[in-house]
Amino acid sequence: MPPQPLTDFSRLCVHTITTKPWSIEEATDRYAAAGVKGITVWRQWLDGRDIAKAGESLRAAGIEIVSLCRGGFFPATDAAARQRAIDDNLKAIDEAEALDAPLIVLVCGADPGQPLAESRQQIVDGIGAVLDRAGQAGVKLAIEPLHPMYADTRSAVNTLRQANEMCEQLDSPLVGVAVDVYHLWWDPDLQSEIQRSGRADRIFAFHVCDWRSPTEDLLNDRGLMGEGCINVPQIRGWVEENGFNGFIEVEIFSNRYWAMDQGEFLEKIKRAYSEKT
Ligand code: ZN
Repeated sequence: MPPQPLTDFSRLCVHTITTKPWSIEEATDRYAAAGVKGITVWRQWLDGRDIAKAGESLRAAGIEIVSLCRGGFFPATDAAARQRAIDDNLKAIDEAEALDAPLIVLVCGADPGQPLAESRQQIVDGIGAVLDRAGQAGVKLAIEPLHPMYADTRSAVNTLRQANEMCEQLDSPLVGVAVDVYHLWWDPDLQSEIQRSGRADRIFAFHVCDWRSPTEDLLNDRGLMGEGCINVPQIRGWVEENGFNGFIEVEIFSNRYWAMDQGEFLEKIKRAYSEKT
């Protein structure tokens, strides 16, 4: 069943990294003017800022903070580095609390110097080590599986099945998943694993863009929805059939789009959101 058409922008969220040339202040003004209702703030956009004030400015502009991006990167071959990662995740929770963001997205990490299974165990341990603090702060954590091409250094969690298994192991209402079409579109088990996430109320976030073919850069050549080979509406239908009705987050890393006028790019995003998402 195709999902309901997106007739307005009430569920449109844009990641600050999507419009990378804009500071948090510019993004606040420009998103508000364009009618974008949600924002996911990448942590580097808050460097040197009064975080609570940035949050107030966003809310005053009518923009809801959907999540803070990103925590994670837990695995490392040495224990001191693992502790530093935990400390950084605790800091991310402090920042989310100051910003009044309800969710942190976790890019979980991997260390090419050890087996993936070991990295996965360290991810579970790392999340477990920050859960109490997340609970105090009222911040949820979303495990975002990443495409397997990033399994060397960015994430040992590469399928939604693995993320679901981790959630089941951690067994906390604070821990769920972020479904990103770019990372998961290829997975033959995607629909059934979305059902599994949905049954446990664990679909915390939904990220969209497209997979350009050929992809010229493995990190920074994501496309607008409709530009590539991902059936974005079908995947949106699956998450919505399974209880998700939150923001649809446009997360595009693209050298070609960052090089263009960001106001024009935002209009393209709105068009792709209305017509191809
Ligand atoms: Zn994502």
